[in-house]
Amino acid sequence: MTDIKNVTVLGTGVLGSQIAFQTAFSGLSVVAYDISDEVLETARVRFAGLARTYVDDGVDGAGDGKAAEALSLVRFSSDLADAVKDADLVIEAIPEILDMKRSTYAELGRVAPEHTIFATNSSTLLPSDMKDSTGRPARFLALHFANHVWKFNTAEVMGTADTDPAVFDEVVRFASSIGMVPIPIHKEKAGYVLNSLLVPFLNAAAGLAAGGYAEPADVDKTWRIATGAPMGPFQIYDVIGLTTPYNILSHGDDRSKALAAWLKENYIDKGHLGMASGQGFYTYSA
Ligand code: NAD
Repeated sequence: MTDIKNVTVLGTGVLGSQIAFQTAFSGLSVVAYDISDEVLETARVRFAGLARTYVDDGVDGAGDGKAAEALSLVRFSSDLADAVKDADLVIEAIPEILDMKRSTYAELGRVAPEHTIFATNSSTLLPSDMKDSTGRPARFLALHFANHVWKFNTAEVMGTADTDPAVFDEVVRFASSIGMVPIPIHKEKAGYVLNSLLVPFLNAAAGLAAGGYAEPADVDKTWRIATGAPMGPFQIYDVIGLTTPYNILSHGDDRSKALAAWLKENYIDKGHLGMASGQGFYTYSA
């Protein structure tokens, strides 16, 4: 059992909205925080869309009113102090920009109750990069979700050397309590488990297609048939959206930059951004 009852999620974008909705769907009170009331208006639409998706995807109980009930458990706020005043846990899912995260943690550290645990959902930054800005490194760690949290329900838990082991264990229990499969990571590792595996895999796939060795659909077919995996790498690109891999590759070595240029020229510049845009490596109906 977890003692965490009130959760605040910072950021209502792709992941923040999913984390907040999944938490509410599990019966906890959630505050969804974002920078302005205008952004929160968009968030309301996004949350209502998630409620429909849970029903459409047949998530257990969603069609029996649980998805609608979850919406009623979410309060929206654009005032940070108000948003976190009762929070046992704050999950941060704001843009992947270190300075922005650090300044947000500095303010959060000032306004949040002393007992509040802070968790970052950052994909590429280490919690150590931010821990001093929180003012409470013992109560700070990473809790990393995968996109489409209701289906791809891993939650990687990774502390720093300063994280209190009791806080780590509490967050592991919390992750289970909201239907995630917690993956404890014993030492800090950029990319956690998932991206340590996934990023080289996706890069290798892009290298095959960009190098003219095989068509994306044939790369996917090979992977699916030969390993029994349900999706190939380019199907995964479409689920993630092409912009995030593009941004990661753009900051890499020359080979990575060449793959970034290939993604941009052939897909991103044509508006083929992945499943959410209706077209990526594959075409999707609405
Ligand atoms: P996003 O751009 O979709 O959403 C970010 C949200 O944060 C927006 O609603 C934005 O208005 C809000 N925001 C901007 N500045 C803010 C501030 N100062 N305080 C609070 N909110 C602010 O981003 P995302 O894809 O949801 O990613 C968010 C975090 O989650 C990143 O750290 C990313 O690495 C991580 N993540 C993303 C994915 C993914 O597949 N998209 C998967 C796992 C983890």
